[in-house]
Amino acid sequence: MNMIRPNDSGPRTIVVAGGAGFVGSHLCENLLQQGHRVICVDSFLTGTEANVEPLSNFAGFRLIRQDVAEPLDPGEPVDEIYNLASPASPPHYQADPVHTMMTNVVGTARLLDLASAHEARFLQASTSEIYGDPEQHPQREDYLGHVNCTGTRACYDEGKRAAEALCYDYARTRGLDVRVARIFNTYGPRMRPDDGRIVSNMIVQALAGEPLTVYGTGKQTRSFCFVSDLVDGLMALMNVSAAPDAPVNLGNPQEFSIAELASQVRDLIPSGSQIVHRPLPEDDPKRRRPDISRAKELLGWSPKVSLDRGLPETASWFALHLGHGPIPQTN
Ligand code: NAD
Ligand code: UDP
Repeated sequence: MNMIRPNDSGPRTIVVAGGAGFVGSHLCENLLQQGHRVICVDSFLTGTEANVEPLSNFAGFRLIRQDVAEPLDPGEPVDEIYNLASPASPPHYQADPVHTMMTNVVGTARLLDLASAHEARFLQASTSEIYGDPEQHPQREDYLGHVNCTGTRACYDEGKRAAEALCYDYARTRGLDVRVARIFNTYGPRMRPDDGRIVSNMIVQALAGEPLTVYGTGKQTRSFCFVSDLVDGLMALMNVSAAPDAPVNLGNPQEFSIAELASQVRDLIPSGSQIVHRPLPEDDPKRRRPDISRAKELLGWSPKVSLDRGLPETASWFALHLGHGPIPQTN
């Protein structure tokens, strides 16, 4: 759908569901800096007060503390909705799997209803997890995936797949303008130290001089996108005038094994941490790398920040945040 909105060039009122989280707080900040009004809707399941506190300095910021699966009344007209509300780290989304599924299915349906009522544009934060343990590499958007629908990751993977289905059904049946971003592993400042994902785990472990936990052999791969690049991509997808008729991968195609990441963290934070191996979690994908041709073509977007640059920035943020001294410089 290609709709010209009356206030396309001016300030807009934008709901960011999940705005108190890692990615959501960076997105809120960018939108506020561009002069938009932002209504952050968050239950603080995994988001933090510290993430939203600086946003309160902007006059255009409002916070609604609630679960997205409950009916939502923003009390004012809304132009755009970004739906980022869902725990994203495996330990967090597996802690209450039924709630994770309901957040992604019922919560997304509620937000799509809100978008319909306000004729607002809707952007869904989907995930590379919808490809499961992929048999195609790198992953293109037309790959239909290889997901275990009864395993311990299913609450998230299948919840996000159902959410995508809902988005396109609302587009087809109600004429809603929807955009779906399939986000690949993203890291950066404001991840929680206890988030449980690989980059935060290893940085926190190295800063504490504790062993770095590698699950399985460490030969499995991921491709790591710095958060500022992802936020640029999400905003480019929301702002492109013609909604793409299919999902768009957003991620950094530079692929690393988990063992390579561990050695980069050890080089960066020389605290003598050893590497210990722990069991590989169930259904852990073996390889993951986005094909971002579609994002390049439709949005003119590609990531700018390599791991060489993003990892030190993230490590410095954690060092400051956790009260460690500056990280010693290595050659
Ligand atoms: P996060 O856990 O830091 O943020 C999620 C936010 O959603 C939190 O503030 C949390 O409190 C909120 N939330 C969760 N359930 C809610 C509910 N039922 N009602 C209201 N608020 C709720 O995770 P993140 O890394 O910032 O991820 C943001 C979004 O991007 C998620 O939807 C995630 O699935 C998607 N994503 C992230 C990555 C990544 O690597 N960071 C990769 C793929 C997809
Ligand atoms: N991983 C690891 N050690 C950790 C945390 C994660 O080896 O302390 C592995 C995990 O098994 C997976 C990869 O790192 O193979 C990425 O895990 P993460 O939880 O960050 O993201 P996802 O599995 O959702 O891609």
